[in-house]
Amino acid sequence: MDQKQLEQEVNKRRTFAIISHPDAGKTTITEQMLYFGGVIRSAGTVKAKKSGQFATSDWMEIEKKRGISVTSSVMQFHYHDKDINILDTPGHEDFSEDTYRTLMAVDAAVMVIDSAKGIEPQTKKLFKVVKKRGIPIFTFMNKLDRDGRDPLDLIAELEELLNIEGCAMNWPIGMGKELKGLYDIRNNRLELYRKDGDDRFLPLNDEGKLAEHNPIEEDGVYDQALGEVDLIKEAGNEFDLKKVQEGNQTPVFFGSALTNFGVETFLNTFLDMAPAPTVHKQKDSDELVKPDDPEFSGFVFKIQANMNPNHRDRIAFVRICSGEFVRGMDVTLNRTGKVMRLNNATEFMSDQRETVKTAVAGDIVGLYDTGNFQIGDTIYSGKKSVQFEDLPQFTPEMFMEVQAKNVMKQKSFHKGMQQLVQEGAVQLYKKYTTNDYILGAVGQLQFEVFQFRMKNEYNCDVVMKPIGSRIARWVDPEQLDESMSSTRNMLVKDLDDKPLFLFENKFAENWFANKYPNVKLTSKL
Ligand code: GDP
Repeated sequence: MDQKQLEQEVNKRRTFAIISHPDAGKTTITEQMLYFGGVIRSAGTVKAKKSGQFATSDWMEIEKKRGISVTSSVMQFHYHDKDINILDTPGHEDFSEDTYRTLMAVDAAVMVIDSAKGIEPQTKKLFKVVKKRGIPIFTFMNKLDRDGRDPLDLIAELEELLNIEGCAMNWPIGMGKELKGLYDIRNNRLELYRKDGDDRFLPLNDEGKLAEHNPIEEDGVYDQALGEVDLIKEAGNEFDLKKVQEGNQTPVFFGSALTNFGVETFLNTFLDMAPAPTVHKQKDSDELVKPDDPEFSGFVFKIQANMNPNHRDRIAFVRICSGEFVRGMDVTLNRTGKVMRLNNATEFMSDQRETVKTAVAGDIVGLYDTGNFQIGDTIYSGKKSVQFEDLPQFTPEMFMEVQAKNVMKQKSFHKGMQQLVQEGAVQLYKKYTTNDYILGAVGQLQFEVFQFRMKNEYNCDVVMKPIGSRIARWVDPEQLDESMSSTRNMLVKDLDDKPLFLFENKFAENWFANKYPNVKLTSKL
């Protein structure tokens, strides 16, 4: 495509993630969006379809048993004049590493909050990551069809707990059984609850009153809503697009995903305000990569093996940062300098995989991978070297000793281990002197998935012996003496052979620091 087409295509892209605490309604709102995009015929089918399609897969069993989603996926669809990429993030906290990296690949985030519960722990954790990136955050206060907390409280909580200004785009008229509608401040209209078609919208006049009389005006909740709207117009935060774009103000929308109330208005307004793909920073260079740069570039933010048991493949998820992806193109993998041809790619249309036709900056492509890629890798076409910034690494907090149950299975043990570690499913360490394997993870569930996948995908039973929760601290090899190690501060090395201690607890770490005051301990590499 020519430069003008590229610019046009890039400007149509909207790439975002939905973050929430489990059960706030992320899946439900995602389904409504897919429904508006014409991807599914009725909401409520994605979950069913997912479990249906993978019914024969043992791998999915672990998800079903626990009722959580451990694989995050990408959904692409066309809506109005936009091409949308929704990156799904698993809500379970044990998979936060995966979630965090996914957040590195989006340009905006939608935060779904259960209006009866307010801001919950997982929302807070994810919010922090998004905030750090300085990307726009849009808030959907969900479950308005149930009795929830005072809307003014919910907005105040954003500031108190998350330290971000909330600016109401609409306001509930009643709640729970009394829910009558939304006062749409942004579009200067009312949206009536439980009405289909365009007559659910009632225009407001310049004074913000109903242009034509409607029975809703006799309802007590209507007066109350008007009073509150007046209050927030006077005393609330003023809408400031610049602040929104910098992630310092979040537009707040009320609604009910389950009854599909307020979701369409939210989606339309959100898509108007959410940014098209923008520049990306590079590592150790001030030169920014522009999305409409004709040369292709992107980075791997996630690797996933064997999503579909019939294929037994591994997919590297690449966020395109500039240019156009063309099937069969040659790219350079910066880490190795190796040139490779990208023949096999997949696009993510809901949960069906289709072959990519055209993909530009902002889009996500899945590359079938035979072990070339690592998380954080940059690939680029063209002569000029591109290297994006490192993705954040998370220090594991739980550790396990691991070995193959059957010594005859060493080969598949090593293969599985290597692939799963490369995927970022777990982190691998070795005991400093004996080289015994030790796995590190952020949460217990990661170990269970590891064990399950080793058996199912690599046909290898593993024995795991818990070491428990530990504090990992790296130490300068120059200052290291092996006699410093004990059971309370186990000495191990990471994949780059860098030494670190796994301290039993804070007390053990302090004890060590007192005993060896000159030895510097660091929490990150
Ligand atoms: P997720 O864990 O964030 O993906 O949450 P889900 O979308 O699976 O929703 C969790 C539960 O809340 C499900 O039983 C939904 O039917 C329900 N739910 C979602 N949105 C609403 C809503 O707007 N109103 C009500 N009453 N229930 C909702």
